[in-house]
Amino acid sequence: MINSAAARPLIGIFGGTFDPIHQGHLACGRYVLEHCRLDQLQLMPCHIPPHRASPGVNARQRAKMVELAIADEPKMQLQPLELNRDNPSFTADSLALLKQRMPATTLAFIIGMDSLCYFKQWHHWRQILNLCHLIVCQRPGYHHQAGDAPALLAEFGAAISVLQQRDCGSIIELNNPEFTPSATAIRAALAEKKKNISDLAPQVLNYIQQHRLYQS
Ligand code: ATP
Repeated sequence: MINSAAARPLIGIFGGTFDPIHQGHLACGRYVLEHCRLDQLQLMPCHIPPHRASPGVNARQRAKMVELAIADEPKMQLQPLELNRDNPSFTADSLALLKQRMPATTLAFIIGMDSLCYFKQWHHWRQILNLCHLIVCQRPGYHHQAGDAPALLAEFGAAISVLQQRDCGSIIELNNPEFTPSATAIRAALAEKKKNISDLAPQVLNYIQQHRLYQS
């Protein structure tokens, strides 16, 4: 679908476990907001069944940490759609719902290069590209020549300017600097009772310490 008006609002949706949200997510979000000229970025934590959740960390707490982390980011918002459901939802279904709610808005779903490398395993991945664009942030350790990335970029790759021209269907590979944080490494550091974890926003670290989260 061709955008009839370049003035259509452009909203980024950043899905993830956010277990916990870290400076890598925030740096990606800020970079995308600035370089892709988004009107808004919505962070959408996914549902995790209670029996699989991290030690002592539930969906409400992951969402609270997202809210704390973005408190001073005027263009970022929590999107609670998946948290309020009883079951895990597929990204394609969530994006279809968001598109229904915002039919006159161009949506862009944000992922890291690690996610693009196996994107063809995502449920209804072609449907995702019928609903939105994909914006891919570089991530240390993952290359655009690995896994599904080369074929996807050859078929759907486009320049950032496509966001103002088309409503969906393109993959934009960003040239962002590398942001090293990873939630897995942070959870390991917290389980080892490390106190100063610079990869977390201070207000998120405070919340984790107050509620004694991630202590295996
Ligand atoms: P985990 O280590 O538990 O897999 P994570 O750090 O990858 O967690 P997620 O919440 O799973 O965090 O990530 C959500 C999205 O953010 C994914 O698409 C992931 O690729 C991307 N992402 C996370 N950290 C970075 C980073 N440092 N640089 C670029 N993209 C990132």
